[in-house]
Amino acid sequence: MFAQRLSQVSVSATLKVAAEADRLRRAGYDVVDFSAGEPDFPTPEHVKEAGKAAIDANFTRYTVAPGIPELREAICARYKQDYGIDFTAAEVLMTVGGKQALFNAALALFDPGDEVITHAPYWPTIPEQVKLMGARPVIVQTQSADGFAVDPDAIVRAITTKTKAIVLNSPCNPTGALIDEASAAAIADAAAKKGIWLIVDLCYERLIYEDVPHNLPKVLFDRHRDRTVIAGSASKAFAMTGWRCGWTIAPKALTAAFNVIQGQSTSNISSITQKAALAALSGPQDAISAMLDEYRRRRDNIHAWLTAHPLIRCVRPKGAFYLFPDVSGLLSPDGIRTSADFAQGLLENEHVVVTPGEGFDAPGYMRISYATSMEQLREGANRISRFVESIQPARASLSQ
Ligand code: PMP
Repeated sequence: MFAQRLSQVSVSATLKVAAEADRLRRAGYDVVDFSAGEPDFPTPEHVKEAGKAAIDANFTRYTVAPGIPELREAICARYKQDYGIDFTAAEVLMTVGGKQALFNAALALFDPGDEVITHAPYWPTIPEQVKLMGARPVIVQTQSADGFAVDPDAIVRAITTKTKAIVLNSPCNPTGALIDEASAAAIADAAAKKGIWLIVDLCYERLIYEDVPHNLPKVLFDRHRDRTVIAGSASKAFAMTGWRCGWTIAPKALTAAFNVIQGQSTSNISSITQKAALAALSGPQDAISAMLDEYRRRRDNIHAWLTAHPLIRCVRPKGAFYLFPDVSGLLSPDGIRTSADFAQGLLENEHVVVTPGEGFDAPGYMRISYATSMEQLREGANRISRFVESIQPARASLSQ
């Protein structure tokens, strides 16, 4: 009945969890929700004011499809200041979130039969968009034992004559891992040698908690500028998920192709959002540091609380706002068998919502979003400990 391209694509596992949580909440349960993929902070005041002012000034009509020039100029200025790279507004296109930035890139670059390399555990949209185009995702696994670091050699080994692109995500959803500059450089050099596109999802680039070098825009621009696409987003950095604002930075000819795609589909992003994003990008950046400090405190606490249990192993993530603990030590063939069962048990017994690792190609893990209050984190950690204790007898009997 439907187009062939849909046959390969899966629905979001996170939506299933969210629906179940919603059902419990409506039934009156006190739910602790660790599934959020978005900041719990409000959009900064000066950004909201800019949006309101746009409405009052009747800035409510179509704009040019790639976005108003002053906003694209503001992206150029922001990256110049933050990363020391130079590009022009003709290389920038505003998109409906980072999601459409990646979608435009997939639509403009991937043909049926192409292979696209990415790393797992991954944000499911990345491989699903590849499949929507009829191309084939080629997955390179990363391991918790190495902090989910992307091994550039493993990426390079996955390259074949069919490889069209490599998609990297750093900080990574769901692991919070960073791709270090040396690895990014090695991947960029290999991609340059073989003429392969590099698409880099930097939607969490402003949420890094450690003082480590992570100037991927410069590393990639220096090595492989003519085939690099940067996907950016205001969603996480400025707590603007609902405004739907992202962007691509890509060579002029590819940006022109994105413009054709967008001109025949969604056209410009909301005019009001564009004015708000202009204030976010060119106004004071201190709201970001305040949010960053709070996320860091939450990360440190929830990580310490969870890993107090000897059977919960968890890398301390350097960025984004997720923990990705390994719960495989709590699973057993005659008790809770999978991380999906673990998440379901936690939901039914303790009303705590987590996203099981299965959705990120990482069975045995679960994703905990710490974009929620410290009280909720404390309460949720207590409930998780209680649940873990309650399933221990099954393990004890197994080991006898
Ligand atoms: N990339 C990653 C890795 C994400 O997790 C998300 C949001 N969950 C996005 C891109 C896109 O977010 P948005 O469309 O709101 O910018």
